[in-house]
Amino acid sequence: MKKRSSTERLRKLDKLHVWHPFTRMLDWEGSEPLIIERGRGSYLVDTDGKRYLDGISSLWTTIHGHRKKEIDDAVRAQLGKVAHSTLLGLGNVPSIELAERLVKMAPRGLTRVFYSDNGSTAVEIALKMAYHHWQARDKNTGKRRFVSFTGAYHGDTVGSMSVGEIDSFVARYRPLLFESFRAPYAYCYRCPVGKQHPGCGLACLDELERLLDKHHREIAACIIEPLVQGAAGMITSPPGFLKGVRRLTREYNVLLIADEVATGFGRTGTLFACEAEGVSPDLLCLAKGITGGYLPLAVTMTTERIYRSFLGTRSRPDAFYHGHTYTGNPLGCAAALANIEVFEKERVMEKIQPLVALFGRLLAGFRELRHVGDVRHRGLMAGIELVRDRDTKESYEPGLRMGERVCAEARRRGLIIRPLMDTVVIMPPLSITEKELTRLVRIVHESIKEVTGE
Ligand code: PLP
Repeated sequence: MKKRSSTERLRKLDKLHVWHPFTRMLDWEGSEPLIIERGRGSYLVDTDGKRYLDGISSLWTTIHGHRKKEIDDAVRAQLGKVAHSTLLGLGNVPSIELAERLVKMAPRGLTRVFYSDNGSTAVEIALKMAYHHWQARDKNTGKRRFVSFTGAYHGDTVGSMSVGEIDSFVARYRPLLFESFRAPYAYCYRCPVGKQHPGCGLACLDELERLLDKHHREIAACIIEPLVQGAAGMITSPPGFLKGVRRLTREYNVLLIADEVATGFGRTGTLFACEAEGVSPDLLCLAKGITGGYLPLAVTMTTERIYRSFLGTRSRPDAFYHGHTYTGNPLGCAAALANIEVFEKERVMEKIQPLVALFGRLLAGFRELRHVGDVRHRGLMAGIELVRDRDTKESYEPGLRMGERVCAEARRRGLIIRPLMDTVVIMPPLSITEKELTRLVRIVHESIKEVTGE
């Protein structure tokens, strides 16, 4: 009884004062929002004590589950030393140790680590670094623009929106944004160049090549979500696409920015998505899973060549004039170090391979459903695209909000998931058990059947 009244009080206050991100607040005010109080392992617990499976890793961040002892302990131990000290003019212990670990783990050649605190800023920094790099080499350079991909999402700051393409997020702000080139992403279910995989020979790359051939003198960098475009609807690119992008950007002297904010830290089945195709980008953006889902921390990693172009000369030293107050925050870095240690100690990447295989088998069951158009899956990331008509791939009218309805149904059955339009996303923590994963997929299956009337 007491719990219930405390939930009601919190709901009321939330509606009075908290403005939620990516949320139609008018709907929110008329709803009965769930208020999370605790978590453990793959579960979140609300203020009434009801347990929910966390099917999206608290927005794609939780890696080893909630309340992972090693990360809890590391944050507590760091609290016993210092919570924050600036990186402007000072070093701090965990940021140095973490940088060393990241350099050892990341794709070859990335030796410099620049800290920030979220995915958007990690991307913003990569864009500024790429631009500044070419300017520092030749102040008359024409290399001032960027290429990104259809459907891209790289964050919500002005620069990261400029290389983004999801209209509902950016259309209103277009007048504020800088123009960038767009190349087609390999979205095979609805091929942007009207071909069919695998017979197409990755014809979408020809479009990128044409663009680079014509404009490479104007282009500083190309930015890509390697292997999986997250917010676009878990669009998985076929083998060879990423490698092809790397080959072309090298050939045309264009830097490659890999935005692994969503795909980093094991989500796609390898520690980094770039690893799967042996790709080393010039800049790498990491956030979300870097602290195991504990604290806001991000990094932009780059090469010695790019770093050196910012040094200037003895008589005219230069700097990268960018930094945030919480850059290199010791608590965040301590959590990230503990996160990495768990990966190694528990051999997580080895351990998840049977889980990934099971996930693939479980997801195959969705292909039998009449209103499932496409099932996309890579590692422990999946998107199930709902369509009105499977034969024509006709989408549902957006006003029907089918994705949201499926997630609401799943919520009633004890599972938290969040859709991307009509694509139902499943992205559990890497620590999920086979039993929990089986239950999670079963709930999504039942919820889709219920909502689509199958
Ligand atoms: N880049 C990618 C690929 C993402 O998926 C996201 C967030 O979902 C971002 C950047 C932005 O990260 P943040 O929300 O931490 O700013």
